[in-house]
Amino acid sequence: PHDIAPLSAAASEALFARAKAVTPGGVNSPVRAFNAVGGTPRFIREAKGAWLTDVDGNEYVDLICSWGPMLLGHAHPEVQAAVLEAVTRGTSYGTPTTPEVELAEAIVERAPVEKVRFVSSGTEATMSAIRLARGFTGRDVILKFAGNYHGHVDSLLASAGSGLVTHAIPGTPGVPESSTELTVVLPYNDRAAVTAAFETYQGRVACLITEASPGNMGVVPPEPGFNQFLSETCKDNGALFISDEVMTGFRASKQGQWGIDGKHEGWTPDLVTFGKVMGGGFPAAAFGGRADVMGSLSPDGPVYQAGTLSGNPVATTAGLTTLRLATDEVYDHIGKAAETVKEAIVESFTKVGLPHVIQSTGTMFSVFFTDRPVRNFDEAKTTDEAAYKAFFHAMLDQGVYLPPSAYEAWFLSSAHDERALSRITEALPYAAEAAAKV
Ligand code: PMP
Repeated sequence: PHDIAPLSAAASEALFARAKAVTPGGVNSPVRAFNAVGGTPRFIREAKGAWLTDVDGNEYVDLICSWGPMLLGHAHPEVQAAVLEAVTRGTSYGTPTTPEVELAEAIVERAPVEKVRFVSSGTEATMSAIRLARGFTGRDVILKFAGNYHGHVDSLLASAGSGLVTHAIPGTPGVPESSTELTVVLPYNDRAAVTAAFETYQGRVACLITEASPGNMGVVPPEPGFNQFLSETCKDNGALFISDEVMTGFRASKQGQWGIDGKHEGWTPDLVTFGKVMGGGFPAAAFGGRADVMGSLSPDGPVYQAGTLSGNPVATTAGLTTLRLATDEVYDHIGKAAETVKEAIVESFTKVGLPHVIQSTGTMFSVFFTDRPVRNFDEAKTTDEAAYKAFFHAMLDQGVYLPPSAYEAWFLSSAHDERALSRITEALPYAAEAAAKV
């Protein structure tokens, strides 16, 4: 495993050439591209547990986990069986079904929401939540934080994280000014900026949307009490507080980021958006919240929102089975696995004098290649991209698939066992050495 000669990628390269001929950049989501780190994205043929196998037959420990969803690892036998069984009964009816009721009940039981509506992506969830907030309050201005990513919603693509920071896209070509002129972007973890914005736009703010704990500029947790402050400030100003838990929901903890702060601090978001884990690897997402706010949604109320595949029976079966299997033991395991990886990073990076800051919320974490704590988007950008690039490839060539970006969370699963963790901890010293040489 310590031979860091490049792995053969001939089959991936051939597929990538075909992909580029028919798909922009050869990928169906920019975060999958290797533009920021160089080289060819690996085309994955199959995955099992913590492991990915590419079309050249190389095996990698997966630290992307489909960018969050695969909490239980790939091809979990019980999820797989439930999905296979569901498929035998047809795949979409366009009518209400049992699994969507059961998944809604499971979400309402865990998360601070009274009602939920299913959609097919996190983007749709935040888009619909914003519309609902505007419809419910009769106001138009929305507040968001720089470096927070809420999907590719026109009005939310101002100073966003995720692929926009990876590919250094500051603005958003194709989004008319009229779509973002009602979006006010604030520095994260900055209470004074929030207070000032509410003063400037007095009586006009429909909602403030925030990642419950930002993970799309790397993991930048809210400072203690920050979400509580946001919740209270929104309340004082008659605006809705939207907590985007698409990434953190059922991932950072069993009850998402809210289980880490809100539950103990005693506040409840007005609306919450979900995705990733709750779809069990299928396209399913949701938004939910206060019963009175959700009551404004069609057909109960006037705010329109709909979807042909919303609450799809196969997707909701996968999500429901995943949530049922996501016990306290699963989160304990992922938390311990994260500790093992983090300790190995500290040890190997320190040994070669490579600056690093590890930031976590619950079971989620990321590594900044910098020497100072990161509290907002500007500070996230101090990360040494060139060092990350060398580190990424040294890990990849030793069979560890990291996000091809210095600004993403690293995801583990309950399937990351000792064998998978050893692959990571054994690869780290060599990758740290390669990065320190940059
Ligand atoms: N919100 C957050 C916090 C996210 O992390 C993401 C996706 N990474 C989204 C929204 C958008 O979700 P999707 O990619 O399913 O549209």
